[in-house]
Amino acid sequence: MSEHSKERTLVIIKPDGVQRSLIGEVIRRFERVGLKLVGMKFSVPEPNQVEEHYTLDPEWKRKVGEKAIESYEKKGLTPPSTDPVNIGDTVVERLKGYMTSGPVVVMAWQGAHAVELVRKLVGGTEPRSSDVGTIRGDYVLDSYSMADTNDRAIRNLIHASGNVDEAKQELAHWFADAELVEYRLVQEGILYDVNLDGILE
Ligand code: ADP
Ligand code: MG
Repeated sequence: MSEHSKERTLVIIKPDGVQRSLIGEVIRRFERVGLKLVGMKFSVPEPNQVEEHYTLDPEWKRKVGEKAIESYEKKGLTPPSTDPVNIGDTVVERLKGYMTSGPVVVMAWQGAHAVELVRKLVGGTEPRSSDVGTIRGDYVLDSYSMADTNDRAIRNLIHASGNVDEAKQELAHWFADAELVEYRLVQEGILYDVNLDGILE
């Protein structure tokens, strides 16, 4: 089996995704592309779990702030602050309220290019501008300006790790090693085996 098939990523269906009855739809989209579910839990996160998740990368606050500023400027609007870290601090506080408002589904998905593929299917951070066909683009309409007006996090249904390093840290944060199941899915023969020689009788 190709080493590529071992890549894993973390996905969380956020409280609004659960409330919108999108658990099945989200799972369907990852299943149909060929990814394998290797871990899953359902619970209401604790505020410190959320804060730790979003501060695993010490650079995250700056990056999230820069993204917000760029989005405002692209639309010819004035951002709420010119200091990205200041925006990042605000976003973490808002996320603690958002992510602990109800149950979430935390999942680990595995397969070739899992991190990149899941991000592609999930779409950009702001549903207002995320591509048609993506989960965020298809099922919700929130924006930076709506979130800032109401002093809350952007409601975008789902979290997905941004890169392979982030995925490793986030998986370790939400799952013990023993909670991630190693098993073979029958379809992996078609996706990964070098020769398709087991089909014809
Ligand atoms: P992504 O989830 O696309 O990786 P980020 O890691 O940049 O996005 O941000 C994490 C989450 O924080 C977003 O999914 C969104 O819910 C929320 N968020 C990001 N930026 C803002 C902002 N400027 N205002 C409110 N909420 C935000
Ligand atoms: Mg992110």
